[in-house]
Amino acid sequence: MKKRIVIVGGGFAGVKLAHELSNDKAFEVTLITPRNRFEYHGAMYRSATGKSPLEVVVPLAEIFDDSLNVRVELDAVVELRPQTKEVEGESGRVYSYDYLVMAVGYEVNFFNIPGMALHAEHMYDIASAIKLRHRLVGAFRSAGKKPVSVSVIGAGPTGVEIASDIRNFSRVVAGMHGIEGLSVNVRLIEASDHVLPMLSAKSSKTAEKRLKELDVEVLLGSKVTAAAADSIDVDGKTLHSDVTIWTAGNRANGLFASYPDIFTIGDRGRVQVSEYFNANSPDIFVIGDAADTKYAGMAQTAIHNAIALADNLKRASNQQKWLSYAPKQPEYVVPIGGEWALLETEDGVIDGSEGWHARREADRWVLENFLVYDVAHKHWQRGERLAEF
Ligand SMILES: Cc1cc2nc3c(=O)[nH]c(=O)nc-3n(C[C@H](O)[C@H](O)[C@H](O)COP(=O)(O)OP(=O)(O)OC[C@H]3O[C@@H](n4cnc5c(N)ncnc54)[C@H](O)[C@@H]3O)c2cc1C
Repeated sequence: MKKRIVIVGGGFAGVKLAHELSNDKAFEVTLITPRNRFEYHGAMYRSATGKSPLEVVVPLAEIFDDSLNVRVELDAVVELRPQTKEVEGESGRVYSYDYLVMAVGYEVNFFNIPGMALHAEHMYDIASAIKLRHRLVGAFRSAGKKPVSVSVIGAGPTGVEIASDIRNFSRVVAGMHGIEGLSVNVRLIEASDHVLPMLSAKSSKTAEKRLKELDVEVLLGSKVTAAAADSIDVDGKTLHSDVTIWTAGNRANGLFASYPDIFTIGDRGRVQVSEYFNANSPDIFVIGDAADTKYAGMAQTAIHNAIALADNLKRASNQQKWLSYAPKQPEYVVPIGGEWALLETEDGVIDGSEGWHARREADRWVLENFLVYDVAHKHWQRGERLAEF
């Protein structure tokens, strides 16, 4: 009997798991996802600052066209029925499983800061990245003689990447639309006292120096308490902000809270899982950003989770013993303005153009996880081209 694997979520973890089980006769795989595409988040800041979105967007058909046992269902799961081993989608369709894998990632969280959800842009999917690009282009084109003020909230990798490329982008837009004398001020606001707080103190310092060289104003130890259409409140002061970009928070997918018996949310807002990724059920698993594993929150970790779970599902089908998950330390490689990046590995830190080459190789590595080399290369190269705007 084939095992029916239902995977909820078509991001890094879900797509990688389906890809690993593809054309394995022991499994019948259903991938439930609201979108017919995989989105490569790592290149999202480039789409927001003018590069082609075709690097970010990979049609699922390109990934699964030759997969005889993977069915992609365009749907979003709204209900779990563990007693009958079924889930229901918003379409009303019901999917039966032997094993259910929740790979639903994280959701953007504005922490109820007044005005933030309404006025700030974010970059959680390609639609929001393109909306941000439109907003920036609109602000640059309508600036007149006034400087454009852009505030980026959160100095993790996403905040640093986008903040450091905005002024470059403004030059491209100015050239394209014949705007003379365009002046843009970028500020990056972070509640902790380091940029890139997850990296070593040495990397944080290097990144901060680079941001200052790029004329990005860095406000550390600062809290944003409100946002309006053209301002933000920071540490009790109201600052003008034509475009506000939120990169500072996310939270567990809302679905988990409805099933407290199955999913226990830990301190980090992720679902607690066993060494085999089980939630509080032998046939329900959680992988990717949603799972509370070491190094969660990185695409590399989501991919590593998916490979480990696929391996165990295959072992189970061969009556072999399950293996405990062994976390793998990710490499951090953060672009900071143009073709310059900071790479931190267990062996040390590399920055500048060498770091940038490492970043481009990492981009290609991610795409090669899902696509044959030629197709991966085609998407990867599109990251070099400008979009139309
Ligand atoms: C802007 C940005 C830049 C990033 N850059 C990097 C980077 O450079 N390097 C790195 O390692 N990591 C990076 N990350 C983090 C990385 O993208 C995540 O760790 C990774 O996406 C996690 O994979 P996932 O499969 O758990 O979640 P996701 O990739 O977010 O996928 C979750 C999927 O589940 C779907 N879904 C949600 N609810 C439902 C439902 N009810 N039914 C069906 N489907 C559902 C969503 O639509 C989504 O497609 C970045 C993240 C962002 C936002």
